[in-house]
Amino acid sequence: MLHAMGTGMGLEFERFVGLLQTDAYIYIVQPLLFHLHLMDYDEDAYDALYWAVVGVLEIAVTFAILRPLEAWRPIEQWEQRRALWPDVWYTWIAKLGIVNALFFVWLQPTINHLETWMTVKNIWTVNLDEIAPGLTDQPLVSFAIYLVVLDFLGYWYHRWQHRFGIWWELHAVHHSQRQMSLWNDDRNHFVDDIVQTAFFTVVSLFIGVQPGQFVVLVAVSNTLQAIQHVNARLPYGWWLERVIVSPSFHRRHHAMEYGHTGTAYGCNFGVLFPWWDMIFRTASWETAVEPTGITDQLDRPEQRGRNYGKGVWAQQWLALCRIKARMTAASAAAVDSRYERS
Ligand SMILES: [Zn+2]
Ligand SMILES: [Zn+2]
Repeated sequence: MLHAMGTGMGLEFERFVGLLQTDAYIYIVQPLLFHLHLMDYDEDAYDALYWAVVGVLEIAVTFAILRPLEAWRPIEQWEQRRALWPDVWYTWIAKLGIVNALFFVWLQPTINHLETWMTVKNIWTVNLDEIAPGLTDQPLVSFAIYLVVLDFLGYWYHRWQHRFGIWWELHAVHHSQRQMSLWNDDRNHFVDDIVQTAFFTVVSLFIGVQPGQFVVLVAVSNTLQAIQHVNARLPYGWWLERVIVSPSFHRRHHAMEYGHTGTAYGCNFGVLFPWWDMIFRTASWETAVEPTGITDQLDRPEQRGRNYGKGVWAQQWLALCRIKARMTAASAAAVDSRYERS
């Protein structure tokens, strides 16, 4: 099992989560499965519950800290908070691991197979201990290295989400929220969620992240990303802002016109560390508060703004429609150019 072992600080955290997982299983999930005649999924449900417990803890911690801050020092004042509701749904769906659980029940045999194959062959995996002996004995050091490696890939993953048209249409779900808040981070297209989880799970397997560490890596990363979307004045100061991505740095990425406009350009793609933006020259330190969202959402004299959907399902569906439109336009353009050539 993915979380059957762990090291260092992962172990303590894992033990705590394990206790909650067992309780939730005995008192809530098992009676429910029994009642619904779904006991065949007994073991899968128990495994999925592990991530759900971590997710609920994340929501509890971020809400307890960030919600009072949003009430105390808001960046933007909104007339109504109704636009936040889909994001609350996204957060619960993501943090309870509902989409990922369904996906992994289906994919788990493949992942287990890959894991066994990698262990037996002992090839293709990058083992930190071989590169620098003794390093993995120090959980904090190996944890930091994994965090940086995964974040580097996260930066490029995010850049490609903006670079490629189809991928952008999925990621546009995240950017179409014009009222950024602590709930904004998980507003994503489910297909994008699945691709991202699969990608980072496989990469983590390849670079030898221990399952116990993987959970902590994901929890740390999720918490920092929730903070980045907060609607509260939270100045990090010159130094800290250059060490980890601050809310104002990420807000710049969401700023209409400045942060991104479809696949054209953009700034501040960094997930946890702004270093990659600094190295690859995509960083902007501008702190002026701009309206957030996607430029074509605005009404123009000649055209009404594009509708990205109000509710979760509309947002998911409209993204697929935009992709279809893009593909149709692309194939029409290909046919045109063939005519021109002949
Ligand atoms: Zn983005
Ligand atoms: Zn964001």
